[in-house]
Amino acid sequence: MSLDFQATKALFDLPEGVIYLNGNSLGPLPKAALAKTQSMMSEQWGKLLITGWNKAGWMQQPIELGNRIGRLIGAAHNHVVVGDTLSIKVYQALAAALELRPDRKVILSDTGNFPSDLYMAEGLIKALAKGHELRIVPPETVKDSINEEVAVTLLTEADYRTGRLHDMSEISERARACGALTVWDLAHTAGATEVDLQKSKADFAVGCTYKYLNAGPGAPGFIYVAPLHANMVQPILSGWLGHAAPFAFEPSYRSGPAIERMRVGTPAVIASATLDAALEIWDQVEIKEVRAKSILLSELFIKCIEKTCPMLTLTSPRKPEARGSQVSFAFEHGYAAMQAMIARGVIGDFRAPNIMRFGFTPLYINENDVLDACEIFSQVMNERLWDRPEYKVKAWVT
Ligand SMILES: *Cc1c(COP(=O)(O)O)cnc(C)c1O
Repeated sequence: MSLDFQATKALFDLPEGVIYLNGNSLGPLPKAALAKTQSMMSEQWGKLLITGWNKAGWMQQPIELGNRIGRLIGAAHNHVVVGDTLSIKVYQALAAALELRPDRKVILSDTGNFPSDLYMAEGLIKALAKGHELRIVPPETVKDSINEEVAVTLLTEADYRTGRLHDMSEISERARACGALTVWDLAHTAGATEVDLQKSKADFAVGCTYKYLNAGPGAPGFIYVAPLHANMVQPILSGWLGHAAPFAFEPSYRSGPAIERMRVGTPAVIASATLDAALEIWDQVEIKEVRAKSILLSELFIKCIEKTCPMLTLTSPRKPEARGSQVSFAFEHGYAAMQAMIARGVIGDFRAPNIMRFGFTPLYINENDVLDACEIFSQVMNERLWDRPEYKVKAWVT
């Protein structure tokens, strides 16, 4: 890789005195994003006005950015497109999969999935009104629950609460053997683990760019459709930019070529500038090395916390290969404890009912940060520093 992690850390704008262990929820600001966004606005939008769609390549950017994300997740060239939000991309992928399996009525998901994915599945079922069923099983039984009834599995590769990983290859293989399709949500694995969509023979994948990929709050989502299906799927959200000839303004929809048909409407060009800046860092690192370092950091954290904080229970898998890039501990007063940590400069987050969650992101977190965070964590726990009324007041976003 052409940048080492000391170099990548310097590319982020992190506040002095903060140890940021929450890049699994919202990545920090890449310094280059400021200049990139500024120049997009003043040089492109400001000066080119509407000609920017052609002259600055705004219209093709969702594919170009998709290809750069594709490198990180093992996608074939021109099979990922950026746009909308992850929830929308879940809806599109799921609908496309169901249409490829018209005789089957079951969407299989698990209790570890992120609620928005399940909500989108519920909404789709209602909209289709064809009697589909959302079947939700415990994560451990997913593989054995795949049978000939299942049209598609809808799974998030890494559990958002615990970081538990599904075995993408194994589940995809079982699905294929049963004639079912797979939709993989990479929200917590793109930019965190070595995803290889082609090798794992995933059918569809979706993700967001504001977590590990560091593109900023509200940055667009992405979708992957395997080459095998790319020209078969019929988009449920048939917006004009997924049309074969958007500027022919035909009265009726004809889908565009391959992944282009998963586009919906006008791309978020300002957010694409921040994504572009974030990917400039990713373009220069190897995900394999990121993964190896993140395992090293999370192992260091677990070892240190378990030695100093007996009141905490590890809820993440103990084996690093079974875990994404985050570590979670259960603690009855986890919300207050996390607030006490944040007040002391260590930022993680809290997930109901009792999970304290920490993300390990080698691009800007090193061993010293982990040891410092551990020291503050054990102080908060052992001196009961969390036990103050102001730490127990719940904010809207936890
Ligand atoms: C973060 C996350 C989402 C959020 O979706 P948005 O539409 O981007 O708000 C959805 N699914 C999973 C699994 C997530 O982790």
